[in-house]
Amino acid sequence: MKGTIMRHGNRKSWSVALTFDDGPQDPYTDQILDILAKYSIKATFFLRGEKAEQNPDIVRRIVSDGHEIGNHSYSHKTMRSRSLKWLRNEIERTDELLMQAGASQPIHFRPPFGRTSFQLISLLKKMKKKMILWDIGPKDFKYAHPYEIVGKVLKKLKPGSIIVLHDGGGDRSVTVDALNILVKDIREMGYKFVTISELTD
Ligand SMILES: [Zn+2]
Repeated sequence: MKGTIMRHGNRKSWSVALTFDDGPQDPYTDQILDILAKYSIKATFFLRGEKAEQNPDIVRRIVSDGHEIGNHSYSHKTMRSRSLKWLRNEIERTDELLMQAGASQPIHFRPPFGRTSFQLISLLKKMKKKMILWDIGPKDFKYAHPYEIVGKVLKKLKPGSIIVLHDGGGDRSVTVDALNILVKDIREMGYKFVTISELTD
């Protein structure tokens, strides 16, 4: 893997990565997993440590369905202006939970709100972790209608895109409806869905 921060994959490979943040959360994560299974699509879930701890059955299902799980911090608090010890604890505590659930290595990291800092970047480098950001963030939590989300994603979609949607943090029924439309549309455009680890730089 080249570099420490990844916002998208190779622009020449006809692959895109679907990622889901802030879960696991009942019932949305399961509803998303049902859609992904129906279309035989593999995705990446960046889990909040404390939610993974509360919902071990959902985490196990994500892994046994063949998806990748990533680290989205333990508490989902902003990681700016924190001590090194605090940052390390947020990451390690979550890694432990994900490893117990059967996560494969390396476990990638996505900071809460996509907010990064020099200190966080250098810590991740030391921990040999890659920071995964995105090039398509439709802010799915803001919209009342699934087609608003679908439109935002399709407008920006390119080879190598990393799309971020949310399976946790509130009512995500609009995201679930949007996903149902998106997977069909994106596939019809000729793209293949891959996990973050499968996405080439
Ligand atoms: Zn988040």
